[in-house]
Amino acid sequence: TAVVELQDVSRLYPGPPAVHALTSCSLRIEEGDFVTVVGPSGSGKSTLLNILGLLDQPSSGRYLIRGEDVTALPEAQRARVRGDQLGFVFQSFHLLEQRSCLENVMLADLYSGVPERESRERALTALQAVGLGALVARMPTELSGGQQQRVAIARALASDPAVLLCDEPTGNLDSGTAATILALFDELNAAGRTVVMITHDADVARHGNRTLHMLDGNVTETARP
Ligand code: ADP
Ligand code: ADP
Repeated sequence: TAVVELQDVSRLYPGPPAVHALTSCSLRIEEGDFVTVVGPSGSGKSTLLNILGLLDQPSSGRYLIRGEDVTALPEAQRARVRGDQLGFVFQSFHLLEQRSCLENVMLADLYSGVPERESRERALTALQAVGLGALVARMPTELSGGQQQRVAIARALASDPAVLLCDEPTGNLDSGTAATILALFDELNAAGRTVVMITHDADVARHGNRTLHMLDGNVTETARP
């Protein structure tokens, strides 16, 4: 079973003017894949990621997560699947400044019904996985940009999601720091984590085993050994 699978998915913005943001996209992402997504501005990258993230719905076609058809779930169940199965990392870190790193990561569980003690354990495990085990009590403002992005990655990892969905996760970082964050994604992927990452950066696009090239809502793929 694929981790996520799109079957003939299209997304039409009715307009006018009508925009075919995604056209008949079929895609299987397997456990352990590291997929980069490239393409010019307006080619449909965000639309694809929003659909995979259950933040938007296809106009037609089907979306399955680990074999479960999530195409037409009501919003409450979409939120449940989002919290359990999907982890998000963005260009901006979106951390709460008045909360410690540990609290920021625990906030991911706030509406999940996970007991606080378990939430704390998950958060500590995730912060260790991103190399911040010694800094869990710090406030985000005391950390570098790279460390703040690590906190955001820990928050995405806390629920042990099926897939990490990343939109330009190194876009706000200097090149040296970006390299260390990419190395972290490589490390997480080597440990089995499935990753989908939008990027504008050709060096970033070379990471992982598959690259999706988007153009005018159409997807083509390059695979690497
Ligand atoms: P980026 O490419 O950096 O993600 P965009 O400018 O493409 O930023 O999109 C920013 C937000 O605006 C997204 O949520 C996108 O869905 C929305 N958006 C993009 N184009 C349009 C449009 N023509 N009409 C309405 N919303 C749009
Ligand atoms: P990218 O992320 O590659 O920049 P998007 O997925 O944001 O591309 O956009 C794909 C196309 O869909 C663009 O033509 C964009 O203007 C259009 N679009 C995106 N969001 C909206 C929206 N909410 N309403 C209308 N058009 C949109």
